[in-house]
Amino acid sequence: MHAKKMRLIRSIKEIRKLTATLKQRGKRIGFVPTMGYLHAGHLSLARRSKQECDVTVMSIFVNPLQFGPKEDFKKYPRDLKKDLKTAKEAGVDYILFPTDKQMYPQGYLTEVCVDKITKTLCGAARPGHFKGVTTVVAKLFNIVGPDIGYFGQKDAQQAVVIKRMVRDLNMPLKIKVLPIVRESGGLAMSSRNRYLERQERQDALILYRALQKARDMVKRGERNSRRIIVEMRKLIKKVDSAKIDYIRIVDAKDLSEKKKISGRALIALAVFIGKVRLIDNLILKV
Ligand code: AMP
Repeated sequence: MHAKKMRLIRSIKEIRKLTATLKQRGKRIGFVPTMGYLHAGHLSLARRSKQECDVTVMSIFVNPLQFGPKEDFKKYPRDLKKDLKTAKEAGVDYILFPTDKQMYPQGYLTEVCVDKITKTLCGAARPGHFKGVTTVVAKLFNIVGPDIGYFGQKDAQQAVVIKRMVRDLNMPLKIKVLPIVRESGGLAMSSRNRYLERQERQDALILYRALQKARDMVKRGERNSRRIIVEMRKLIKKVDSAKIDYIRIVDAKDLSEKKKISGRALIALAVFIGKVRLIDNLILKV
């Protein structure tokens, strides 16, 4: 049997028309928003959508709104040709690849902002980041009109924020959050891993090791968050190139601080390896 053709759509108007028609025909639409430079993490989302939905739309858009002025918007890795090949192999039906101008035409004024839970963790170090994320994701949801939106646990705070936005704004879709896909050594896959030099790639394994350390401590009965964080810090500090942005233990649902581990606790960290800021996390159920 021939694999179905994947279509690249650059026009918002066109994808809107397409998905509207598909929905009228009763098709279930799965949507995977990405910034491209696809890896196995992205593909796990596309594959799940393929399993659960009739049509899978993936967007590739490096969203200028979610990058700070000193961040890597310009040099963020891009490779559309390779992405198209990879997405097709994963069974994506439509790639939406809009231009910045289409998404934010001159005179654009509207932002979507989730309060409070966007101020902590990554939001503290990256002011305005989540406002950029929620704005673009809200726009993309309106454009594509999906039944299910697929997101990765890799960006744990992002997933919580998006779920909150969908709930608060009564958006008519379901959000699914899928597990972190890791490289064989444990490094969480990320388009930004490309920035790491060879030694730094080794050093970057410390994020996952620190999370494993936390998991071991909890397994052995430790419930005090501070003591766990102290041990994680000690471990990470052994790596010269590593500089900790934050290590926090919070409630997995609302991101509130957890002094004692109970229920579903999210251990989240952001660490610079050299100049590259990496994030990782783990959910512990106690
Ligand atoms: P990005 O292209 O980095 O904006 O990511 C697009 C989507 O893929 C987001 O929902 C991410 O959380 C998800 N994602 C990125 N890396 C991973 C990973 N290693 N495992 C699972 N999902 C991921």
